[in-house]
Amino acid sequence: MVRKKQLTFMFLNLIAFTVIFTIFGLIIFGQVQTTLISETDKELLAFQRMITDDNQREVSPPAYKEGRFAPRTADDRTRMMPNPRIIVLDWNENGEIMNEDQIGTLIYENYLLDYTLDPKTLDEITSVTMEESFHFRSLLFESAKDGIAYTQLLINIDAEHTVLNNFGKLLILCSFVFVILSISASYLLSKKMMKPIIQSWDKQAEFVENASHELRTPLTIIQNKLELLLAEPQEKIINRFENIALSLSETRRLSKLTSDLLTLARADSAETELAKKPMAVDEFVKRVWEPYREIAESQDKHVWLHLNSNQTIEADEIRLHQLLVILLDNAIKYTSTHDSIGVKTYVDNQKAVIEVTDTGIGIQEENIKHVFDRFYREDCARSRETGGTGLGLSIAQWIVTSHGGTISVSRNEQNGTTFKVKLPK
Ligand code: ADP
Repeated sequence: MVRKKQLTFMFLNLIAFTVIFTIFGLIIFGQVQTTLISETDKELLAFQRMITDDNQREVSPPAYKEGRFAPRTADDRTRMMPNPRIIVLDWNENGEIMNEDQIGTLIYENYLLDYTLDPKTLDEITSVTMEESFHFRSLLFESAKDGIAYTQLLINIDAEHTVLNNFGKLLILCSFVFVILSISASYLLSKKMMKPIIQSWDKQAEFVENASHELRTPLTIIQNKLELLLAEPQEKIINRFENIALSLSETRRLSKLTSDLLTLARADSAETELAKKPMAVDEFVKRVWEPYREIAESQDKHVWLHLNSNQTIEADEIRLHQLLVILLDNAIKYTSTHDSIGVKTYVDNQKAVIEVTDTGIGIQEENIKHVFDRFYREDCARSRETGGTGLGLSIAQWIVTSHGGTISVSRNEQNGTTFKVKLPK
């Protein structure tokens, strides 16, 4: 399914990039074309101005003498040199070219012999194609010269056409290369982006599978025990005490499991909001520790408490309580008689640190990296016996990270483990 999605994504990318590069190419091409053509059009207009200006001079010399027209400067003169690219055609009323000699026989016979006057385009700059392969821009205007009705200026733009053609080809080639490059880049990026999604998808599927498995086990036990009870309805409860006790303990397990699952599901969907309030770390730890001290002492375990934090932090007290309960529960679960359990608080780098240490069975070096994984249990049988679900430390990790802190675990030099929680102020 992921592959299919990736292919669809690539296909959509291909369309998007092609459209973007086509629009981009068209805009650039249009802009270059307009610039090139408008340059030739300017040359035509300048030439027209030069001709009409000269005619004016001839037609009304007094006006120049009277100073009604500014005299030409040296700059004007260079600008007004006849542009060698421009061909001037003088047409008479009958649509005949009058200045054949000026144009030159070569040009006249090759291009202009069949060329006819089109007075509809008067005072307009238009494109003209001759012999299907020679391109000109043309400006036709009425002439003031005797015996000449119209003057037409033609400027050859074949060079511009070649430039535009080559530029167009280059643009298509570049667009094609860039589309290919973009697609390759998007393929690699999407692969990279999909990796964590696939991982979390796999994790989610594994989680659901594990959860169903964990739920099924107690349910099967309860069902079996109840069926046994039902098979002997006349039997007294006292004689079937074990069955009932086991069903009850499995029901408790189920209830804990479902509430743990719910906590994690809410954590995943970021539904749970923390109700942070200032709280004194030492006071809080002392309060949570008290009942665990009593339990540990009742099991002949040594206990110790070193409170040196003296710090107030912003935290959700209910969640932190849950965190400490998970760590202390584990410390009790994974220690035996005469082991010791202790809690230490202190400040490190402006962070409040809570350490829960025990001298219990400890965790194997190679398993340390898995203890925060969902449903991970080093010794399944023992964990089940003590009512463990393998979700406690995952919840603990979520609580700590949602407070912006860190949790780590290490093996003690001698026996047991130490869980270290660091919380920011
Ligand atoms: P569980 O409900 O099984 O205790 P946790 O998520 O709390 O699940 O812990 C995961 C596993 O980490 C446990 O099954 C156990 O193997 C190991 N573990 C956790 N705390 C301790 C500890 N204090 N000492 C030894 N092993 C521990």
